[in-house]
Amino acid sequence: MQKKGSSIFSTKEFHKKYSYSGKLGANYTKESTMFTVWAPTAEKVELVLYGKNPYRNERELSVPEQVLPMERGQNGTWKMNLNGDWDGTFYNYRVTVDTVKEAVDPYAKAVGVNGMVGMVVDLSSTNPNGWELDKKPELDAPTDAIIYEMHVRDFSIAENSGVEKEKNGKFTGVWQPGTKIPGINIATCLDHLKELGVTMVHLLPVFDYDSVDESKPDTPQFNWGYDPQNYNAPEGSYSSNPYDGKTRIKEMKQMIMELHKAGIRVIMDVVFNHTAKTEDSNFNKIVPNYYYRQDKDGNFSDASACGNETASERYMVQRFITDSVVYWAEEYHIDGFRFDLMAVHDIETMKEVRRRVDTIDPQILIYGEGWNGGPSPLPKYRQALKVNTVQYGGLQIAAFSDDIRDGVKGSVFKLKNPGFVNGGKNWEENIKFGIVASIGHEDIDYAKVYKKIKPWANEPYQTITYASAHDNLTLWDKLQMTNPNEDEDVLVAMNKLCAAIILTSQGIAFMQAGEEMARTKVKDDGTLDENSYASPDSVNQIDWQRKIKYKELYEYYRGLIQIRKAHKMFHMNTAQQVRSSIHFIETGYKNVVAYFLDGQIVQDLWKEAIIIFNGNRENISIQLPEGSWNVVVNEEKAGIDCLRKVNGCIQVPPISAYVLVKVD
Ligand code: CA
Repeated sequence: MQKKGSSIFSTKEFHKKYSYSGKLGANYTKESTMFTVWAPTAEKVELVLYGKNPYRNERELSVPEQVLPMERGQNGTWKMNLNGDWDGTFYNYRVTVDTVKEAVDPYAKAVGVNGMVGMVVDLSSTNPNGWELDKKPELDAPTDAIIYEMHVRDFSIAENSGVEKEKNGKFTGVWQPGTKIPGINIATCLDHLKELGVTMVHLLPVFDYDSVDESKPDTPQFNWGYDPQNYNAPEGSYSSNPYDGKTRIKEMKQMIMELHKAGIRVIMDVVFNHTAKTEDSNFNKIVPNYYYRQDKDGNFSDASACGNETASERYMVQRFITDSVVYWAEEYHIDGFRFDLMAVHDIETMKEVRRRVDTIDPQILIYGEGWNGGPSPLPKYRQALKVNTVQYGGLQIAAFSDDIRDGVKGSVFKLKNPGFVNGGKNWEENIKFGIVASIGHEDIDYAKVYKKIKPWANEPYQTITYASAHDNLTLWDKLQMTNPNEDEDVLVAMNKLCAAIILTSQGIAFMQAGEEMARTKVKDDGTLDENSYASPDSVNQIDWQRKIKYKELYEYYRGLIQIRKAHKMFHMNTAQQVRSSIHFIETGYKNVVAYFLDGQIVQDLWKEAIIIFNGNRENISIQLPEGSWNVVVNEEKAGIDCLRKVNGCIQVPPISAYVLVKVD
């Protein structure tokens, strides 16, 4: 039974009396460990100690070595100081609020197998060799980021990843250097990322999640991991030993360090909007009802569509979220955070996250999904919705642009509806809106943008420019779904046009892993999987063989990335620069978007560029301004080298992108 009447938590009195800003969790030194837990409504809290043997089974776990009463501290906290060296000791809290419940410390930095117990940890003993020298790759501006969204297991689980068997699908598999498709000189995994040229990887959840049984590594299991259990410890199934609390920490740190060495920054997917369990989550066992919003009848509300939604507007929830982000940024050297269902959080919390990460590294990227999964009691104007991005002023907090995502290839919800590249009509203004990264621009007719959306970003670094992510059909599958009888070379042309639009558009560029090799997710019955969150490896794994089959497409992505990195004109830092340098061209054609880009505003070596996207099945012909123009992107190739020179009139073939530049 849920306890009603949680409205007390929103009162000023409660806030004043119980807002605690001191240290929480088990704070270790060699001499002593201080345990502090916030449980203002508890009648009694005990510290339950399980000793240091990580291989105790669950039945043994119910028999603690010691149970010690904790003392009341300030602002609703309970404390216990233990002298001596407690490194490696497993512990929980036993909390009495009407009934007695045992919970893992929400601030636990290490956990045992399946996250059922916390562990005291001497973090200095979890650093891999060379950790002190770990250096983040340079990032001058947030718009310089080119993000590759990947799942740890997908990345190296396939046999053709060339990764050693015991590292397949693990943290250690992510960074193995020199891997190739067996028997063929084609780079996979880390070397592939370097070759492709992306600057950041975004890892799907790597904190400890609930769904995969870590004690059964040989049983086929898969989950994306959007079911949080312990926020401040890594997921055990990605480690070589999920029992020992330190291995997963050390292996995750090593992965980050090795990615940094390869010039790649690391972004973590964070899911603070809900917890896997509700009534029996660690939060709720310690302070019933405090961490979650309730509707007017006192029932848990569900803006996450996962059974509950956290209440970030309450001080200790906001504090937990920001503390956790800061912890990962400092302890693990994480370079960015992607907030799942960000709109479940309030705007003030997102600003507070930004404020706190700025004190560590102002180039830490913050972005998220500017939507939620259902109605929330939090008023809309307070939600970190995409359309409320304008409220951030100049802060770097970005939202995914579903406007360009659906504009290029059609709605993610209407599977058969096409977009600009695959046969849709009237998407021109959406594409233009995407090109300028969701800011206001005088050449755009906002009444013709889908849903008549208004500019929602103040600055280009507040927009994630993308075509596909882990959710919904892959880009390739969406193209197949909308054009089921089409020849493969036409689908490749559509995919290329899509990539050209995304990678030349302003904002922060983002792609799903494998998009560059026509990633597909096919179920056993031959149908396409639009929600593969718990589908088997056969659906989710990156099939590296496709890098050979779709070599031309891969090279096209690579060339576009090369252009984006070398030319600031395609990812300018400010809205003012975007507005002054982009001028859309009236071509007289439907399903065509063309614009002039002035590179001199950002001192680009390419002084001027003309970019043309032709979504039609026919050739179009565009009159160029005076002079000689270098073609650097056409229907076949993309890159920084001149493919040919043209002047006068340019013929743009069906379903293709052209980029023409003037060097002098
Ligand atoms: Ca887990």
